[in-house]
Amino acid sequence: MVIKEAKFLMSNTKVEACPAPDKPEYAFIGRSNVGKSSLINMLTEQKKLAKTSAQPGKTQLINHFLINNEWYLVDLPGYGYAKVSKSSRDEWRRMINFYLQKRENLTCVFVLIDSRHEPMAQDLDFINHLGTMGVPFVMVFTKLDKQSATKTDSTIAAWQRKLRETWDELPQMFRTSAEKQVGRDEILNFIEEVNAQ
Ligand code: GDP
Repeated sequence: MVIKEAKFLMSNTKVEACPAPDKPEYAFIGRSNVGKSSLINMLTEQKKLAKTSAQPGKTQLINHFLINNEWYLVDLPGYGYAKVSKSSRDEWRRMINFYLQKRENLTCVFVLIDSRHEPMAQDLDFINHLGTMGVPFVMVFTKLDKQSATKTDSTIAAWQRKLRETWDELPQMFRTSAEKQVGRDEILNFIEEVNAQ
C-alpha cells in the first residue's frame, strides 16, 4: 500500500465522540516506550504524526488519523507506566474496554511488544483479554535492531509457547524496526488485504 495521505483528525476520551465508524479501523497499543509513536510515524512516513507518549498523569486519549481517506489509524494510550496511580489505571481500563467493545468498525488491534523482553504479565493479560472478547489482533515485535536475530527468535518462540497454553490459534506476528525501517511493507500489505476482504 502506498500512503498518499495521513492526517490527524482528533483526540478523544469518549468513544461516542470518535469519527463516524464509516471506515475500517486499526488500533495500535502497547506498553509505554514500546516504540508505538515511532512505528506509526514509520508506517505513515511522517516524522511527527504520532507524538511520543504523554507523561503519566496527563489525560489519556484515543487519537484518530485518517489514512488515504480509506481507513482510520488509532493511537491508543499505552499501559505499564511504573508510577501511574490506581485511579489512572482504572480510568485507562474503562476507556480501553469501552473502546474495544463499542467501536463497531474496529477491524484489528496491533499489540506492540518490545522484542528484547520475555513475555510480561501485563502484555499477556491484555492479549488474553482481547482473545476472550473476540477482538481480532496481531502482534508486532518492535526494536529488532536492538539485538541479534537469534534473541528476537527466542522472544517470539517464548510468546508462542506462552500463548499455546491458552489458545489453539496463534495471532499473526510482525517483526519491526522503526530505526531500520523494517516491517513497514508487511504491515501495510496486511492492512490492504484485510481492507479488500
Ligand atoms: P512510545 O512511547 O511507545 O510511543 O515509544 P516511542 O516511539 O516514543 O519510542 C520510545 C523510545 O524507543 C524512543 O527513544 C525511540 O527513539 C526508541 N525506539 C523506538 N523504536 C525504535 C526502533 O525500532 N529501534 C530503536 N533502536 N529504537 C527505537
